[in-house]
Amino acid sequence: YCKVNGRNGKLFYSKKMNQTYNDLILLEGELRRAISKEELTLYYQPKIDVVTGEIIGMEALTRWFHPERGDIPPQKFIALAEETGLIIQLGEWVIKEACRQQKQWKEAGYKQQRVAINVSALEIQRNDFTEKVRRILHETDMPPECLDLEITENSVMQNTEECIKTMNELRAMGITLSIDDFGTGYSSFGYLRKFPINHLKIDQSFIRDAYTEPSNAEIVKAMIQLAHTFGVKVVAEGVEEREALEFLRNQKCDYYQGYYYSRPVPAIEFEDMLVRG
Ligand code: C2E
Ligand code: MG
Ligand code: MG
Ligand code: MG
Repeated sequence: YCKVNGRNGKLFYSKKMNQTYNDLILLEGELRRAISKEELTLYYQPKIDVVTGEIIGMEALTRWFHPERGDIPPQKFIALAEETGLIIQLGEWVIKEACRQQKQWKEAGYKQQRVAINVSALEIQRNDFTEKVRRILHETDMPPECLDLEITENSVMQNTEECIKTMNELRAMGITLSIDDFGTGYSSFGYLRKFPINHLKIDQSFIRDAYTEPSNAEIVKAMIQLAHTFGVKVVAEGVEEREALEFLRNQKCDYYQGYYYSRPVPAIEFEDMLVRG
């Protein structure tokens, strides 16, 4: 490990990131520039109703097309943004950009859809998070009912009480809350009861072989049933094949996302999907 004194105090980079320290410092500067120069773009992936096949919303996923390095995967630059604290600026850009796009679609006459945004632990733990979201919604003239915030279970496991308070404030505003990547963290069904959430997103690792791997199938079934007893809707991530969708339909899963319907696409291509219905 090598230790650095960064802007936000001590930062630790592990060798397994497979990057030299100098590369990371360089990339940090470039990410800072990318956020301010708006080199980032949002792609959108539809969320589909399992029964009707209709688009019920979308998830915004950030893309960074670096002018020299090419496409940098989110796993890499989100991790970097989290380690350097840049995630605060990045997250703010994401919410603003998603709201701006929704407003544009609304003005162009498209049916208003709910947009989901991924929120990092660092963002939700800041005590100004609720106010920031409220201000952006106000500035962009976006109804809170059209915003969905996806939070991973590990994020809410840190400072749980504080997080629940923030989540209650967001819910009171009319915002939808989703737990992302469910099943991959310190999952505890007890938290389903504790957290004021609307949607549970089952991680794609369970969905991918849910219809070939009996143990995964049982886990998915149990997750869906339990979520439903708490009045929580279930979204399956990573649906790539028709068989997976059929399995989910039999299990009364509510919504799904995945390459089977569509990959995340640029806004202009998402428009085509909205037109086609
Ligand atoms: P996530 O929020 O769980 O998003 C789902 C990921 O699965 C996306 O990867 C999406 O492209 C991919 N995916 C969707 N359907 C399928 C499928 O059928 N098969 C497979 N194999 N993959 C599928 P992506 O866009 O590379 O994003 C990776 C992760 O990076 C996201 O996972 C999220 O945790 C994070 N991320 C992306 N954008 C943002 C952002 O703006 N803010 C924050 N905090 N995190 C972000
Ligand atoms: Mg997500
Ligand atoms: Mg996920
Ligand atoms: Mg994820």
